[in-house]
Amino acid sequence: MAFDFAERSGGASGTDFHTLIVGTGFAGLGMAIKLKEEGQDDFVILERAADVGGTWRDNNYPGCACDVQSHLYSFSFEQNPDWSRMFAKQGEIWAYLRACSEKHGLAPHLRFGADVTSARWNDELQKWSVSTRDGRTFTGRVLISGMGGLSNPVIPDLKGKSKFKGAQFHSAQWRHDVDLSGKRVAVIGTGASAIQFVPQIQKLAGRVDLYQRTPPWIVPKPDRAISAIERRLFKRFPLLQNLYRKGIYWMLESRILGFTVDPRLMKLFEVVARSHIKRQVKDPVLRAKLTPDYTIGCKRILISDDYYPALTQANVEVIADGVREIRANSVVADDGTEREVDVIIWGTGFQTADPVPRGVFFGRNGIDILDAWKNGAEAYKGTSVAGFPNLFFIVGPNTGLGHSSMVFMIESQVGYISDALKTMRQRSVATVEVRPEALREYNDRLQSRIGKAVWNTGGCQSWYLDRNGRNVTLWPGATWQFRRQTRRFDIERYVSEPVKVHGAA
Ligand code: NAP
Repeated sequence: MAFDFAERSGGASGTDFHTLIVGTGFAGLGMAIKLKEEGQDDFVILERAADVGGTWRDNNYPGCACDVQSHLYSFSFEQNPDWSRMFAKQGEIWAYLRACSEKHGLAPHLRFGADVTSARWNDELQKWSVSTRDGRTFTGRVLISGMGGLSNPVIPDLKGKSKFKGAQFHSAQWRHDVDLSGKRVAVIGTGASAIQFVPQIQKLAGRVDLYQRTPPWIVPKPDRAISAIERRLFKRFPLLQNLYRKGIYWMLESRILGFTVDPRLMKLFEVVARSHIKRQVKDPVLRAKLTPDYTIGCKRILISDDYYPALTQANVEVIADGVREIRANSVVADDGTEREVDVIIWGTGFQTADPVPRGVFFGRNGIDILDAWKNGAEAYKGTSVAGFPNLFFIVGPNTGLGHSSMVFMIESQVGYISDALKTMRQRSVATVEVRPEALREYNDRLQSRIGKAVWNTGGCQSWYLDRNGRNVTLWPGATWQFRRQTRRFDIERYVSEPVKVHGAA
């Protein structure tokens, strides 16, 4: 019996759908657009916020922009000739995602304020039952997580944090109502987010104390405005834009050799980064503080032309130290020095130790996915987990990138999942569940390969590695290799079941 999508549609107010998608970032929207394209309408997209956009909705701190060229960091099927800059700012990327959602008619499928608190597999019904914080429950044959790996901000649990009397907020929850003009501001963290907002707040604040535990490697940002003529050409000749996109793709892709094959090749990037800092920071003491001692690429390589110049300004102090304690009106560095501040901004990144929170995904026999992952998160092709039928992750374990556009990886997974659903329809199966041996074999190979990469061998600590030092985050190869692996849904690597309960399909 083939699934009849139209027959079981949950409709605008219904709660039972063939497919439940979680999240409206590039992953969730990309998946939904693909389903629409294939004429599949029986799905709902659960979004905890009040609008689409994922990370590009939430991260609206001053200076937020993409650090991958926008012509590549966008859907291949929705190339935008109107990007105003090489590296678009957050507002433009968010607007792009909203426009994609509108153009593809996703509005009737969106359920806002639907913060998923639990997703349980019901073996009798062969369905997922998903509950949201506001008390709603949705059921679906298939559950697709597009929750992303960087969606839950982390503020470290430092002594005295709650005693601070001034305003404090995380970069991903920027308090635009807090006027920083003339204020004494402590910024904690020097990652990809901080290097974008520090130059902006430096212009306003009376003083900025920048707490840097580990300096990042930074290379110049080849940003520029895209001229009206170029935009007209891209609009008129989409093929030209496609070629441009491909050019960027291969330029970024060439870097993978240094990341994964021979970290010694990273020396080339190090030369560029060292000359960047030399050009922009004349003070040798400050330069020494800002120069990393690990191999470039071990942590994400950052790009910026305005970060170092901001740090050379008289109102900025770089404190090359961790934070010991927060007091009512001050921050105490690890060396015991106390500095009074009015505002604390946490640029301390996201919850990445586990790709999903505990107590959310429960598979066969009620097993929490974090228990299935007690030795580290892993998924077959970053997508499927044994014991969790019909659950597909987009941006799952080992699909992150240090060198190119995540949208490319997302589209690969979207294609794989859509082929899975097609295969299920064609073969009239109700469930697909990856075979444990397929999962094992895939991850053993992946881990042996990643062990040689610069992220593991470069002498740094990063959020790419889990608490056991295992890299469960990044894809250790070229993105086209991942695309090749995910081109076809390999049902032979899965166990499948027919429908158990008639009428419940
Ligand atoms: P992040 O890269 O994880 O950086 C967090 C920073 O906080 C690090 O400097 C870290 O120091 C510091 N830190 C964490 N805990 C601390 C503590 N207890 N005491 C002192 N310092 C502490 O976070 P992020 O900057 O938000 O970026 C996260 C990821 O988001 C990036 O890697 C990137 O993938 C993505 N992102 C992308 C863009 C883009 O343009 N596409 C922009 C922003 C973010 P250590 O280095 O010592 O751990």
